[in-house]
Amino acid sequence: MIAQLIDTHAHLQLNHFDADRDEAIQRAYEAGLAAIICISTDVASSRAAIALAEKHQHVYAAVGIHPNDCAATSDDEVKQIAELAQHPKVVAIGETGMDDYWKAVPLSKQAELFARQLELAAQRNKPVIIHNREAGAAIMDTLRAHGVTKLSGVFHCFTEDWNYAEQVLNLGCHVSFTGNLTYKKSALPEVAKQIPLERIMLETDSPYMTPVPHRGKRNEPAYTVHIAEKLAEVKGLLFAEVCARTTENAVALFGLDI
Ligand SMILES: [Zn+2]
Repeated sequence: MIAQLIDTHAHLQLNHFDADRDEAIQRAYEAGLAAIICISTDVASSRAAIALAEKHQHVYAAVGIHPNDCAATSDDEVKQIAELAQHPKVVAIGETGMDDYWKAVPLSKQAELFARQLELAAQRNKPVIIHNREAGAAIMDTLRAHGVTKLSGVFHCFTEDWNYAEQVLNLGCHVSFTGNLTYKKSALPEVAKQIPLERIMLETDSPYMTPVPHRGKRNEPAYTVHIAEKLAEVKGLLFAEVCARTTENAVALFGLDI
């Protein structure tokens, strides 16, 4: 039996996949992927994600504006994202969130776009995909400032400690782990051990964050298998159970029809 896995975060529309996009999707299916969610960073990539989802039965789309790409986002662009969010294969808003590592956009502007996308997600009744790079406190502050105490969504590419994970769980959100769970010396396995399996999902963040044993190469959705293997080891569970349970979590959160 081939495991049923879901890559809940891949950027398949990027030019890194121009030479072999369809083949990469095919390899993912062969590796046991039941679905791939293609995540966007601006209006153009949102349209591209939807086009891919229209072409491939098991590819779904998230539409949104990345915190590092929101410096010049216009009201009209936010409106376009809101319209695109009505497409039947759009299962989430994102990625949004905040990033204090690259400092590409002032945090106040990031907070504004984050809040607008939280509002859109609530209106459309869709989960949000939250990017957090060294902005954990700013994200919680923004949620608090907007009166958000419960939220349907995922803190993707989770890199924080258990204390932060607890805040995320209390909000009602999920966390997803990428290839960095597999890196030597990573503190994440200790955190993952404490997070209930029903709140964990898997993702590659392709083409970035390539897991061991492919580290150094381009990442692709088929490599979700390696993250599942690592999580099984960390949790002391069977690989098949980790696959089944994380897939169930993603199906329920995103309302996937697989
Ligand atoms: Zn991403």
